[in-house]
Amino acid sequence: MQVKILKGTNQIGGVFTEISSKEAKIIIDFGDDLDGVKRLENIEGLTTGKPAYDGVFITHNHQDHMGRIDDILDDVPVYLSDLSRKIFETVFCFSKNKGKIQRKTINLEEEKPITIKDMKITPYIVDHSAYNSFMILIEAEGKRILHTGDFRNHGYKGGLLESTLKKIGKIDVLITEGTTLSREQVKSKTETELVDDIVEKTKKHDQVLMLMSTTNIDRVTTIQKVANKTGKTVIHDIVLSNVLQLVTQKIPNALNSKNIGVYLPDSVFIKRDNEEYKKYIEPFQEKINKTGKLLHGKFIMNIRVSMLKDIERLKDKVLNNCCVVYSMWEGYQKEEIYKKFLDRMKELNIDIYNLHVSGHADYTAFNQVIEITKPNAVIPMHTENKEKIKDFTDKAVILEDMEAFNF
Ligand SMILES: [Zn+2]
Ligand SMILES: [Zn+2]
Repeated sequence: MQVKILKGTNQIGGVFTEISSKEAKIIIDFGDDLDGVKRLENIEGLTTGKPAYDGVFITHNHQDHMGRIDDILDDVPVYLSDLSRKIFETVFCFSKNKGKIQRKTINLEEEKPITIKDMKITPYIVDHSAYNSFMILIEAEGKRILHTGDFRNHGYKGGLLESTLKKIGKIDVLITEGTTLSREQVKSKTETELVDDIVEKTKKHDQVLMLMSTTNIDRVTTIQKVANKTGKTVIHDIVLSNVLQLVTQKIPNALNSKNIGVYLPDSVFIKRDNEEYKKYIEPFQEKINKTGKLLHGKFIMNIRVSMLKDIERLKDKVLNNCCVVYSMWEGYQKEEIYKKFLDRMKELNIDIYNLHVSGHADYTAFNQVIEITKPNAVIPMHTENKEKIKDFTDKAVILEDMEAFNF
């Protein structure tokens, strides 16, 4: 068999991996670079020329793993969980850079193997900051490869990692994400510990605005826990309210809990008569009407940078003792849109707290996966410091982009 990281041995995000057996050749993930620059490098047989791949498998719905799937040739099947696709499309329906996926995809489901020629591909649910993320096990020629995708063991599903890995058992080759290899090696805080941090920092504020990813469902649970501990009402914006209707995990949302409000941001309000948006707004109309009152009490609400105008408008009316919790990867703060947003918060005298836990594996997670699956080779990717993996294993195989590893 052969593994080739087509892109991702020297960068976080924008990754894709080729795995081939005697008969089959597949790709895992096909994402955009994290710097936001759309790069359109062509891959022979995948995006151009005669189809040469049997399938592309997407681990989760972050842009850096699936952003380029519309560039894939029509005759190359793309496997993506229907649920992940729906969540992605719902979020992007509301955003400026329209993200509707044009191409057909085949549903990928937890622990339902797909067989392609001599290759068996099985997705396993794994803890990450995107809901419904998969690790992927590839079996062919009597060999087993585990591709971790993005993962961690410190979210609310973190405890599952051990049992999942034990179910997978011994593997030959591990392809692991290594996002945190370029950072100081510390044990990551858990989502549960994050709850206490947010409670502590925000308890003196009456209004707490959580700047966070709308697809980070663990963080939604965290918000709920903070609200319960500080006597605040939870308000979800309209985008999150819709996303939560798709999520199969039981968490309180606007339609199953009478205590949760729904906020319709100005940017969506102006589209309320547009047919495309009606279906997203109408189920929540009653809640939206009642939420005006909730804004005058103590509350915690998820926000997005596109809600800057809303905050400016609400500042005079209701946001009299307010803070923003920046609860995302700090790297985004370098982007103009985030910088502008945070600068404006400072001008408005709104306190900002940076409180976040990473979606990525820390050293305890690397140790766990290596210890349980006992790979003969460990290939790091999705990293800016691949050599560091040698601290965790004497089986490291350090590859450059496009370099083949045969075994
Ligand atoms: Zn990633
Ligand atoms: Zn991710």
